Amino acid sequence: MRKKFIAGNWKMFKTTKEALAFADEFKRLYRDGGVEAGICAPFTQLTALKDAFAGTDIRLGAQNVHFEENGAYTGEISAEMLEEIGVDYCVIGHSERRQYFGETDETVNKKLHRAFVHGIVPILCVGEDLAARDAGRAFDVVRDQLHYALEGIDAAQVRRLVIAYEPIWAIGTGRTATPEQAGEMCGFIRRVVNALFDNEAGEQVRVQYGGSVKPDNAGEILSIEDVDGALVGGASLKPADFIKIVEFQKV
Ligand code: PGA
Repeated sequence: MRKKFIAGNWKMFKTTKEALAFADEFKRLYRDGGVEAGICAPFTQLTALKDAFAGTDIRLGAQNVHFEENGAYTGEISAEMLEEIGVDYCVIGHSERRQYFGETDETVNKKLHRAFVHGIVPILCVGEDLAARDAGRAFDVVRDQLHYALEGIDAAQVRRLVIAYEPIWAIGTGRTATPEQAGEMCGFIRRVVNALFDNEAGEQVRVQYGGSVKPDNAGEILSIEDVDGALVGGASLKPADFIKIVEFQKV
């Protein structure tokens, strides 16, 4: 049985002071409700949040990592550095990084490999843009992204992996995929993993939906069987909103 995993993606928001205020408030509201909850924060907030979440089961994630072990890569952060902080997860291949920072299928694949070397579970983002969806090519795009990203990854690693299906047209736009569209693509992703690896890998990999998930639509999306959680941008910035998504079963 896969446990649902609700992860906040703060993007480039929150100073350390603001992150700690969030952590205090969120810890006050949070009760173990049978789902996994976590925050993917900017690099400079990770150490403070690791301390703030100590003694809870709230997970911590980074939003990017470099694919080399170390070297002359000014401004980059290595997986070993993230491991030292004790992060559980790392978002890899977010569409904003693909769009604005030259992330390619090749670098996504290398980053996946590097994260696993250091015991960090990738949250691999895939998703089509509006032109591909309108042209009926959404499934082809996502299948190709998965093929490239998972090259050389073994079945044992895939069983721990998290994949976030984030249709680009739904990110930060207020336009959410319908529960049918989200469920259809998350199920498709599981079948691609089945075909590439084995049924056990497909059964265990967790597939999140991301794109304008809010307190008022979370319940509908998260109750779909193939949707194993959510990657939440805007609505993860306020503890009062994020807790409603984490506790979607109560809403
Ligand atoms: P959003 O972002 O919830 O603000 O649409 C989701 C994401 O980009 O991960």
